[in-house]
Amino acid sequence: MKSRVLVLGAGFGGMELSTLLSEALGETADVTVIEKSDAFVFGYSKIDVMFGRETLEAVRLPYRNFVKPGVRFVQETITAIDPVARRVTAGGGTYEADFLVIALGADLDLAATPGLAEDGNEFYSVAGAGRAREVLAGFSKGPAIVGVSGFPFKCPPAPSECALMLHDHLTKRGVRGACEITLVLPLSSPMPASPDLSGALVAAFAETGIRLLLGRSVKALEPGRKTAVLDDGTELPYALYLGTPKHQVPQPVLASGLAENGWVPITLRTLETRFPDVYAIGDAAATGLPKAGSFAESAARAVASSILAKLGGGEATPNSGTGSCLVEFGDGRLGWADLDFLTGPKLKSIYHAPSVAGRAHKVRFGASRKARWFGL
Ligand SMILES: Cc1cc2nc3c(=O)[nH]c(=O)nc-3n(C[C@H](O)[C@H](O)[C@H](O)COP(=O)(O)OP(=O)(O)OC[C@H]3O[C@@H](n4cnc5c(N)ncnc54)[C@H](O)[C@@H]3O)c2cc1C
Repeated sequence: MKSRVLVLGAGFGGMELSTLLSEALGETADVTVIEKSDAFVFGYSKIDVMFGRETLEAVRLPYRNFVKPGVRFVQETITAIDPVARRVTAGGGTYEADFLVIALGADLDLAATPGLAEDGNEFYSVAGAGRAREVLAGFSKGPAIVGVSGFPFKCPPAPSECALMLHDHLTKRGVRGACEITLVLPLSSPMPASPDLSGALVAAFAETGIRLLLGRSVKALEPGRKTAVLDDGTELPYALYLGTPKHQVPQPVLASGLAENGWVPITLRTLETRFPDVYAIGDAAATGLPKAGSFAESAARAVASSILAKLGGGEATPNSGTGSCLVEFGDGRLGWADLDFLTGPKLKSIYHAPSVAGRAHKVRFGASRKARWFGL
């Protein structure tokens, strides 16, 4: 008998998991993917859009091209999840599963930072990046803040990339001398998992005159005074605020009883939640690992292996906790770290120093996913 797999969300985790099950089972797979959007956008494309490297239209990858044997794609918004019955409500209908996988990513909680929606510019959503692009075009003097409102947040190096790209953008427009840039991060270093990459970022900030404030987050914006208030009470004036809002799992996950403190607790090696045959992968899961696409993919590999082992016997391969963090340095250089959190006794980190030639790595990263998931 077929076993029904219900995958909630078609991001990095959901698409990779469905692809792996389709590869293994072909037409006998019984996978339903429920996703609210009509197109996928890589996280890093948002920064490309914000700084005018790409258009919104060019970075959209329509799901009509996500076609796999044994996989049904349903474009609906999920409104309720019952992890005990493994039943999901979406678009007014209900879906039942033998295996349920939460791959819904992280939502942005703008309201958690008073003043952010009113006077700041978040660049973590596609729409926010598009709006930030317009705002940037009109910014030519005064203090700019790139600020983060909470931890954990997606792609730990993204705010650093944003600050360096802002420097490059203002320099090219000939107005850098009239602007200051401050980066506020709630981390102990720009990339805690890679001391080498952190060191390269700190050096780049020093060279470009970007002020770095570590171990702090932005608690509120006061639009009347054009002032950002940090969690240690520091006040910083701004003329431009580019923000990473606080994150949490989407509302239906919060309401389902699956989440604790904003995230879904799982067993790190198996990605199982406390509910039988219910898994959580990617940004939604409380793994403690970086919230990045490649880590969602390694979690997807572990869950595919677990489901296939339960269906056909054999051993499941545990979560490797492997992934790469790619970092734009704003001047055309790209550096990255290949990270392996779980296969050995301690974190292994391989550093690739920033270089212009390194950009080819990111091009390959994107092209391989476009080919694998969308046949492009
Ligand atoms: C600015 C920025 C830069 C980044 N750069 C990188 C990078 O260079 N490399 C990298 O690896 N990662 C990067 N990331 C992080 C990366 O995008 C995420 O970590 C990754 O997308 C997580 O995958 P996921 O499958 O867990 O969630 P997602 O990819 O977010 O997928 C979740 C899906 O669930 C859907 N969904 C949510 N709620 C509902 C609902 N109620 N009903 C139906 N569907 C729903 C969403 O529409 C979404 O498609 C970046 C992120 C940002 C914001």
